[in-house]
Amino acid sequence: MKAMILEQPGNPLKAVELPDPEPGPGQIQVAISACGVCRTDLHVVDGDLTEPKLPIIPGHEIVGDISALGAGVEGFKAGDRVGIPWLGHTCGSCGYCRSNAENLCDEPGFTGYQIDGGYADMTVADARFCFPLGGENTAASLAPLLCAGLIGYRSLVMAGSESKRLGIFGFGAAAHIVAQVARYQQREIYAFTSPGDTAAQQFAMDLGAVWAGDSDQAGPVELDAAIIFAPVGPLVPAALSAVRKGGIVVCGGIHMSDIPSFPYDLLWGERVLRSVANLTRQDAIDFLALAPKVPVQTQIETFPLSEANAALQALRSGRLTGAAVLIP
Ligand SMILES: [Zn+2]
Ligand SMILES: [Zn+2]
Repeated sequence: MKAMILEQPGNPLKAVELPDPEPGPGQIQVAISACGVCRTDLHVVDGDLTEPKLPIIPGHEIVGDISALGAGVEGFKAGDRVGIPWLGHTCGSCGYCRSNAENLCDEPGFTGYQIDGGYADMTVADARFCFPLGGENTAASLAPLLCAGLIGYRSLVMAGSESKRLGIFGFGAAAHIVAQVARYQQREIYAFTSPGDTAAQQFAMDLGAVWAGDSDQAGPVELDAAIIFAPVGPLVPAALSAVRKGGIVVCGGIHMSDIPSFPYDLLWGERVLRSVANLTRQDAIDFLALAPKVPVQTQIETFPLSEANAALQALRSGRLTGAAVLIP
């Protein structure tokens, strides 16, 4: 198979030919049609996340067709289209796994981080962590749902079902999906972008935001909740100062620069600050059932697999609107 591998963080990915991976017991072998490029991949490649298996094939927004089944796989057959997300393995026995919080498992395995992922034309995955995908949309358009969509959805749930006025800080791949779901749920979206990023502000307005502006300025109304997708610590006090008493601020990213100290007044009034870590399989089941009802339409920019480094650079530089997707 063809793959783009990371040998050492800080270096570009390298194109390699590897033997086809054989599906072990409980695994499926998947011929990859598309793999989204997530900001987490950047954090792995740049070394912000410090526990990768090396070398590693990045990528955890995988869409493909099952090409072979290992022993004991149930519920799938050859030819089925599936999605493979970030959560690739859990221990099943720790306190978190036994209390519906498998996203916090003590011994997890994450796709494209500890388990070889989707920057390739083939992969194997534990079937219990894969999800059937409908056939109507293109594989490339579905890929961003597998992480930007899932983590975005979990962040939206954590923002509270009663939160009508919703701020979104950082308007990229996850935000553009969450905005569509939030609109469907009849919430008002206030989009805060990097100062002067008029393209992202226009993108947000096109997706139905009622207001879009610079993150270093106050919005037009007090918010009920805010989700921060940009990996920028100073946005935490900014978001706290934008929400009402009792409001919720959700940090949706896996990595963020340091949060500057801020006056207790910003948290006072029973404001809530929380992070969202990973996803549960139930999040995936819920979101993948909801997405076609909205219906979520992803905006993507495709790159050939061999240009994975260029796709990562486009994301790093903030040049993308929507999501980058690799096509093998
Ligand atoms: Zn566990
Ligand atoms: Zn991701």
